[in-house]
Amino acid sequence: MTPVAPWRKPVFMGAAELFIDLDAVAANWRALNAVSGRDVESGAVVKANAYGLDVTRVARRLAHDGVSSFFVALAEEGVAVRQAVGDAADIYVFSGHLAGGADVLRDADLIPLLNSPEQVARHFSDAPGHGFGVQLDTGMNRLGMEPADWDALRSDLMDAGPRLVMSHLACADAPNHPMNHLQLRTFIEMTEGVARRSLSATGGILLGPEFHFDLVRPGIGLYGGLPFAGASPVVRLSVPVIQTRAVRPFETVGYGNAWEADIERQIATIAAGYADGLIRAMGPKAQVWAGDVPCPVVGRVSMDLITVDVTHLEAVPDTLEILGPHQGIDDLAEAAGTIGYEILTSLGHRYARHYVGTA
Ligand SMILES: *Cc1c(COP(=O)(O)O)cnc(C)c1O
Repeated sequence: MTPVAPWRKPVFMGAAELFIDLDAVAANWRALNAVSGRDVESGAVVKANAYGLDVTRVARRLAHDGVSSFFVALAEEGVAVRQAVGDAADIYVFSGHLAGGADVLRDADLIPLLNSPEQVARHFSDAPGHGFGVQLDTGMNRLGMEPADWDALRSDLMDAGPRLVMSHLACADAPNHPMNHLQLRTFIEMTEGVARRSLSATGGILLGPEFHFDLVRPGIGLYGGLPFAGASPVVRLSVPVIQTRAVRPFETVGYGNAWEADIERQIATIAAGYADGLIRAMGPKAQVWAGDVPCPVVGRVSMDLITVDVTHLEAVPDTLEILGPHQGIDDLAEAAGTIGYEILTSLGHRYARHYVGTA
């Protein structure tokens, strides 16, 4: 048998190109940092590979621009951040101290945000003397210590000197939701006298100064998503046209014959589909762009292909843009009935990725 060639990262001929603008990420961080003001530290949430955009490049760029507190979901993600940003930064782990996690936490010098009495016991027995923070539940009922457990453990935890005490808002993307002030009040009550506190992600930063405390934790806003309406777009996705054909009246296009031509139409087929994160549900509500001209998606989104009506174009370009100045992640999300976060974290692995701006 012929030996298999050594593995290398595949480069797909005619791949769609995903442009990720690190200057825009940095600009978004600076803009949110300006909103939270001079006395409040702005960290950066880089979980899930920096929302799919490459944690190494994003964290390194943000560290260079002055970020010194990073947040990840899992300890293993923190290892990549540590490698990217060096020894000085604080790296917090939302999932806290999970069973068997002490070595990773110690080796990469990560700060677990302890979520439960079990995690507190585990941390003090498996990693005595190692820094930690505390995550409190103020009503979201997802992650964090319940008020009764915090009451019982608070003095022990405070004696040990937590690096941060934090909670998370459930409805911060809806500024008028009564839950925001309810959680704010609960957080204030639970953390009276605590030295370093954090409550807000992107949405909370925009709710106003009473939500900022000592440190804010923006994620999606850095990557150009709502609720930060003023964000600079970070991603652009350009997809090659691989075939164009004329279809006659009453001919159909794609799976399930879901679209039928009324008059003769020109249909372009572009090389990306739901396997690349262009979720099928966006279907006919989405458009792609030929420069400034929108072109409707017709028929169903396939795994690797999307069909587009280009009848109205004078000439069919080599590529059509699905994410760009005219259609951002939240526009696409709306067409698909989801949120910008899911569009970003779904962006696939077949794209040729180009990083714009200094790394
Ligand atoms: C994901 C997350 C963030 C960042 O939220 P964005 O809405 O993306 O800004 C902050 N804090 C916690 C606890 C999170 O899970």
